Amino acid sequence: MPRNCRPVHLGEPVSAPEPAPVAGCDVCAALAQQRVAAHAIGDKSTVIDRNIEIRRHPHAEVART
Ligand SMILES: [Zn+2]
Repeated sequence: MPRNCRPVHLGEPVSAPEPAPVAGCDVCAALAQQRVAAHAIGDKSTVIDRNIEIRRHPHAEVART
């Protein structure tokens, strides 16, 4: 009988969904480009660093009118 509910233990940190760069932010756009380049060469640590930077990049609250 097949078991469909085995526990999964991952040795590596689960890759979180990647943050999207904020539209119109040059810094985020640059970070996103660096992330793409890091992906291309398989540089996971840089990908993670860029994700953190994009997530933490401060943005002034856009005036809501
Ligand atoms: Zn930004």
